[in-house]
Amino acid sequence: MKKYAAILLAGMMALSLAACGGSGSAASTKEEAAPAEAEAVTEEAEAEAGAATTTEAAAETAAEITTVSEGELHMATNAAFPPYEMTSDGEGFATDAAGSVHFEGIDVEVAAKIAEKLGLKLVIDDMEFSSVITSVQSGKADMAMAGLTVTEERKQNVDFTDSYATGVQVVIVPEDSDIATVDDLANDKMIGVQDGTTGYIYCSDTVENGGYGEDHVTSYTNGAMAIEALKAGKVDAVVIDNEPAKQFVAVNEGLKILDTEYIVENYAIGISKDNPALCEAVNNALNELIADGTVQQIVDKYINAGE
Ligand code: GLN
Repeated sequence: MKKYAAILLAGMMALSLAACGGSGSAASTKEEAAPAEAEAVTEEAEAEAGAATTTEAAAETAAEITTVSEGELHMATNAAFPPYEMTSDGEGFATDAAGSVHFEGIDVEVAAKIAEKLGLKLVIDDMEFSSVITSVQSGKADMAMAGLTVTEERKQNVDFTDSYATGVQVVIVPEDSDIATVDDLANDKMIGVQDGTTGYIYCSDTVENGGYGEDHVTSYTNGAMAIEALKAGKVDAVVIDNEPAKQFVAVNEGLKILDTEYIVENYAIGISKDNPALCEAVNNALNELIADGTVQQIVDKYINAGE
């Protein structure tokens, strides 16, 4: 685990590059350099001073952007990843294309605010997590927003906005498990992960690279299914991002989260490399929402409230 932490940290450092594949502004560099919690607290004075001009800039860019369906902003996501994206019993903050399924969560609300700034209607394209990047690459959706961690490999396939949140991979085990530390995962255990996620990538890596080997990993199409497999004893542990982990443990009796050496990952929005204008417009809108505290308010509503 230590080894894998070191490798990841090295990877993270390589990621402090500009958003949207460009050379980036001073603001975005600062953004990337700042840890997530500090992110939303970006110097307020500066935000206020710059707000008027950046809003104009976003509106101007919005007039020039093209999206897969005119007047709409299609968000590819996997709506089984609370508190970032999940279906809603109420109105939620956006619907699918048919207007029949309603969605809520941090990503959905932030995306709805971005769409509003760009004068577009947010539409949720709910799919398996492993398809969100390809759907953007193939021009089916405009942006992948799914608690999506920025990695060097993914950066080959899509451009990323600045980061708006962070996540860490944690380990969920049954309360009576003999797995006490992450090192115990190496003792011939079976680990459940979500297909195509960073949790899968780390765990399935070779032992030399700090992983546990492909043979010790079972992939599920979403977190809820991995948790069901854990409860049924089909896997010994589940590796998943910390906030969904907390939610799954809260609603499923008999599970706990191990104390781990947390490795911080940056969540950002992935956009087609063929649509730099859209990436820029979404990134500008996102940065305005970070600067004026909107993103933090949304995060607090789902995560920090009641803690
Ligand atoms: N953050 C993880 C990743 O990007 C998991 C995201 C998810 O399951 N929605 O791979």
